[in-house]
This record gives sequence, structure tokens and C-alpha cells, in this order.
Amino acid sequence: MNFELSEDIKNLQTQVRRFIREEIIPMENDPRQTPHGPTEDLRSELVALARSKDLLTLHASTAMGGKGLSHVAKAVVFEEAGYSPLGPTAMNIHAPDEGNIHLMDLVASDAQKERWLRPLAEGRTRSCFAMTEPAPGTGSDPSMLSTTAVRDGDDFVINGHKWLITGVTGASFAIIMARTEDDNATMFLTDTDKPGFTVERMMDSMDSCFTGGHGVVRLDNLRVPKEDILGEVGKGFRYAQVRLAPARLTHCMRWLGAAQRAHDEASHYARNRQSFGKRLGDHQGVGFMLADNEMDMLTIRLSILHCAWVLDSGGRGNVESSMAKVISSEGIWRVIDRSVQILGGQGVSGENIVERIFKDARGFRIYDGPNEVHRMSLAKKILAREDIRQA
Ligand SMILES: Cc1cc2nc3c(=O)[nH]c(=O)nc-3n(C[C@H](O)[C@H](O)[C@H](O)COP(=O)(O)OP(=O)(O)OC[C@H]3O[C@@H](n4cnc5c(N)ncnc54)[C@H](O)[C@@H]3O)c2cc1C
Repeated sequence: MNFELSEDIKNLQTQVRRFIREEIIPMENDPRQTPHGPTEDLRSELVALARSKDLLTLHASTAMGGKGLSHVAKAVVFEEAGYSPLGPTAMNIHAPDEGNIHLMDLVASDAQKERWLRPLAEGRTRSCFAMTEPAPGTGSDPSMLSTTAVRDGDDFVINGHKWLITGVTGASFAIIMARTEDDNATMFLTDTDKPGFTVERMMDSMDSCFTGGHGVVRLDNLRVPKEDILGEVGKGFRYAQVRLAPARLTHCMRWLGAAQRAHDEASHYARNRQSFGKRLGDHQGVGFMLADNEMDMLTIRLSILHCAWVLDSGGRGNVESSMAKVISSEGIWRVIDRSVQILGGQGVSGENIVERIFKDARGFRIYDGPNEVHRMSLAKKILAREDIRQA
């Protein structure tokens, strides 16, 4: 087994690392950073910086102006980008746009690509992905999808209520998941300024790294022509898997970068702060926390790279990305929490970036499938296996 990265990937890693350190970290305290994420103005400035360095939307296909990175290359680049909460925004590789770009590259028609995907990949617009609904609609359980799309001539008429929709405020278009007559799910593309698409309110949340925050959307007789169906009618759940397996892995990559940053901040503090006559890190209680951080991050990195390799080899990667999601979201949480502890009062003050990372990262154990649901699916697969493993 060869863990050596290609020269191309190593060069890209160096380039992104330098970009984040020199251009993006200095902007972290920009006053245009709000509780609902960077403002549009700040986002545009960040995107322009990445564009000037040829580091924008690297995962998009070459036809859409990207570099069509492999999953392994993404693992390396996205981790570097995640080192700053503003990095993924700058490079146009943040959720939900990153996953939407990936899905549309694979499934959208040529006309849809020109109309919606190209401006998105160029960083000129933003998008959102609207699946989750308030009770009794879908959350952890996709089969509870209650938004309906009813055929009316050549159009579909969509009614429903969505919430927790990241980036919806300011997004120019949405991918909406709705139940169609065949009792299956279908994905629809729609501009967000159409009649029947209303952002009811923004939701206050712990995180502040997603432009446009999270919002509640009312779909009230939203009319969508059949040409704006993404892919085919009735294949929504299948496409959700096409989007989710790699999209949840890219979350792991970005959050690993954030955990690395928290660990670096904590290590710096442990090297320089004194307590009880020696360096903080020389106290075994602190040194062990740093050691545990590095072991957690190694485990996370290996699970991400393994899943990336499966996807690059043509596998579906569903099980691997599910496991990587649980390993990563729980591992990064331990790393960030230990880092807060090592930093003492600084760790919970807004003066240190680790406080922001702590708040930004918590949601990852819930979105892209709560960890309990991933464990449930894995347990089902284990129990369905033959009782005794054959030689
Ligand atoms: C920051 C953030 C961003 C998001 N962005 C988007 C977005 O852009 N678009 C979108 O459509 N959705 C988005 N979501 C919604 C997200 O996908 C849902 O929160 C998630 O699917 C869980 O659904 P729920 O919140 O309704 O939880 P529920 O389904 O109500 O479940 C609540 C909790 O119950 C537990 N649970 C559920 N089922 C089981 C089980 N079988 N066994 C054991 N425990 C279980 C889990 O701990 C779960 O967290 C976002 C969520 C967050 C937090």
C-alpha cells in the first residue's frame, strides 16, 4: 500500500496552505462576519482572492471551469481549506454549494448546467438544497418526506415547508426534494425569486461559517416546468445518495482542517504558557491530550483517504463514507473540545478562533445523517451477514 501523494497533489497542498495562511486567516476578524455567516460582500471579496490565485471551485469538472479533482486530491485540498472557517467559502467548496456542484455535474442537463451550474461554479451565485422539514415531515427518516409535487400539464406544482436550509438567504436557486405521484421522490431546480418560494425566517444557530445561515422556506403552489426536474422523475432518493456519499466525506475533510487548526492553537499555547513551574504541555494531563488529538486526527485522515480511494476506484462508498462521517464528526469533536480545555479561558473567548470552530463544528454530528442513523444502518448490514465468516 502506497501512501505517497503525487507531486501534483503535493504542489496543490502547498499552494492552498500558503493561500489560507497568507490571504484568508488575516481576514478572519473582518466585521462583515455575522452570526449568519460571512456577508455577501465579504464572500465576494474572498472568492475574488481565490479566483486570482486560480484556486476557485477546484472540484468542479474541467467543463465547468474546475480541475475535476479526484476524491483523494479533494481530501488533501479541502483539509487545507478548512484550516480557516473562511477557507471553504473563499474557494467555493463549502456546503451546500460544493455538494450541489458535484451532483449537478453528474446529473443536470446541458441547459441546466449553463443556466445554473456554470454561474455557481464561477462563484457568481449561491445555491441551497431543501430536503429537511419540520415535524411531521422528513428529518433523519427520508421516507417521511411530505412536500408534494403534483403534475399539472407540463408543470409540477410544489407545496411544502422546509427548514434548516443552509444558505437559503441570498441563494439564487434551490434544489428541492419533493414527493411525486409515484410516491417516490424527485429533485426540482428552481430560482428562489419565483412566486411561491418564500423564506419565512432565518434560524439562529451555533455556527456562523455558512453564508446565508440557515432558513425556513414555505413552498406555496410553486410552479416548476418539467424541464427543471434534476435528472429523472422518481429518482430523488437515488440522487440524494449520489450527492450525500461524497458530500458527507467533504464535510469530514473540511472539519479535519478545522480540528488541525484547533490542535495547532492548543499546541502553541501548551508550548508557551507556564503553570506550576513548567510549560503547560509538560504536565502529563495536557501532553496526553495533545497526543490523543494527533491519534484521533490520524484515524480520521485514514478513514477519509480510504473512502476517497474507494470512490476514486469506482465504488459507491456509501458504507465507507457513513463510517468516515461518524469517525470524523466524533473525532474532530474530541480534538476541538480538548483544544478548548488546553487553551483555558482563551478557548471559550471570542478572541481565539477555537471558540468559533467549537461552535461551527457541533452540527456535524447531526447533519448528513445523525450518527445514530449511520450506526443503525451499519448494524443492519452486520446482522444481515452470514453468521460465521467463511474462509
Ligand atoms: C447546521 C445544519 C445545517 C443543515 N443544512 C441542511 C440543508 O442545507 N438542507 C437540508 O435539507 N437539511 C439541512 N439540515 C438538516 C439535517 O439534515 C437534519 O437536521 C438531520 O437530517 C436530522 O433531522 P432532524 O433535525 O429532523 O432530527 P430528527 O429526525 O428529529 O432526529 C433527532 C435526533 O434523534 C436521534 N435519532 C433519529 N433517528 C434515530 C434512530 N433511528 N436511532 C437513534 N437515534 C435517532 C438523532 O440523535 C437525531 O439527531 C441541516 C442541519 C444542521 C444542524
